[in-house]
Amino acid sequence: MKPKIPIQGFLLSRYAYPTTASPLICAHRRYATTSSKLSAPSPPGQRWWLRLTLITVTAAGIGAYARWVQDSSSGSTTLNPVRFTPYSLVSREPVSSTGSIFTLKPPKPDVSNLEVYEAAQQAGVWSVMFKQPQLQIGRDYTPLPPVPPDAGEECLRFFIRKDPFGEVSRYLHSLNIGAPIEVRGPRIECEIPPETQTVLFIAGGTGIAPALQAGHTLLRRTDQIHRPTIHILWATRQREDCRGGYNEPTSATLSDARRPWLSRVFGSSRAAAAPPTETRTSSDMSPIVREIEALKSQYPGQVSVEYFVDEENTFIGKRSILDFTTSTVSSPELSKRNMILVSGPEGFISYMAGPKQWAEGMELQGPLQGIIRELHLQDWAVWKL
Ligand SMILES: Cc1cc2nc3c(=O)[nH]c(=O)nc-3n(C[C@H](O)[C@H](O)[C@H](O)COP(=O)(O)OP(=O)(O)OC[C@H]3O[C@@H](n4cnc5c(N)ncnc54)[C@H](O)[C@@H]3O)c2cc1C
Repeated sequence: MKPKIPIQGFLLSRYAYPTTASPLICAHRRYATTSSKLSAPSPPGQRWWLRLTLITVTAAGIGAYARWVQDSSSGSTTLNPVRFTPYSLVSREPVSSTGSIFTLKPPKPDVSNLEVYEAAQQAGVWSVMFKQPQLQIGRDYTPLPPVPPDAGEECLRFFIRKDPFGEVSRYLHSLNIGAPIEVRGPRIECEIPPETQTVLFIAGGTGIAPALQAGHTLLRRTDQIHRPTIHILWATRQREDCRGGYNEPTSATLSDARRPWLSRVFGSSRAAAAPPTETRTSSDMSPIVREIEALKSQYPGQVSVEYFVDEENTFIGKRSILDFTTSTVSSPELSKRNMILVSGPEGFISYMAGPKQWAEGMELQGPLQGIIRELHLQDWAVWKL
């Protein structure tokens, strides 16, 4: 289980912010003096300059402090990784009985927010932290990619699962519309290098949010020469979580005879069967499935999704992974271009790729284990989110 992280001291103890967020973080460098004693008294001209420098530095310090105090008391309007910014809850749209899409808006219009989101979105998968003010604890959440109606409005949207025993998710689901929610970030969870061509995203539950983010980051790099692709394996507990989602006729639905030989060796549950396509309308789809479909229409042929539903006894297994990886061109020199990302509850990540590890207050990737390791895949970089 993830340790509870008190708000104070979080920045120093839990994660080092990656350099990609650097526009938001000022590097403070302190120079050490070489000696506390000067070997000879400075000449009068030098002392005058020293005094002037001291006064200037002190004045600048007081100015900066005053600005900081003013900023802190008025509340920052731009999302930043150092201080919490008071957003407010604009809407909460149910996706299923266990999860909703939350839309949050910043305290006042501030175009700098768009620049902050854009920088993070270009880099890869990113998250922000929400504060639970009564308990003074924070939890990370992944913004969904922007959709056209929200563009320019600086709103952030999140798909949040309600854990009946979870402190922060329960708190968030109990808030009234208009309630304040303090947010800090962004933090880049995983950079998607520019040379990446293929992503296999293995998502459990709300892990679909970073999958959509990864899709947007990757696919917006499409040009005349590059046509990156993303294949998402999404496992949910109930059908209602992915209502209206259907499995395309990928290799997973081909006859066994046409299946890559290796995948035939590993038996695993097949993805949920496709409902008749012609009967599907957008109102039949859960909001998340609608977003997946929108991404598919925006980038035809570059996005594919397979759905797995616990209550229908369909699970992501070795075969689902191999069906995709064996159909992808790979070679050692292409290894930087193929990524497997795994996101979801801790148990899900452990099963797929082994647990992440904590060391010296930081969460680390830990060794590759789980079923992905057993597949001995060559030329794929694996990242646990
Ligand atoms: C980078 C990142 C991005 C994320 N993005 C999202 C997202 O977009 N959407 C989303 O819904 N979630 C996301 N999460 C998960 C999220 O941060 C929270 O972990 C989740 O909402 C649960 O938090 P909570 O405070 O409600 O539950 P917690 O209070 O942390 O409890 C979690 C579970 O542990 C159990 N538990 C608590 N204490 C104990 C104990 N002492 N012994 C045994 N069991 C215990 C609880 O019963 C509960 O079932 C993300 C996590 C990370 C790290």
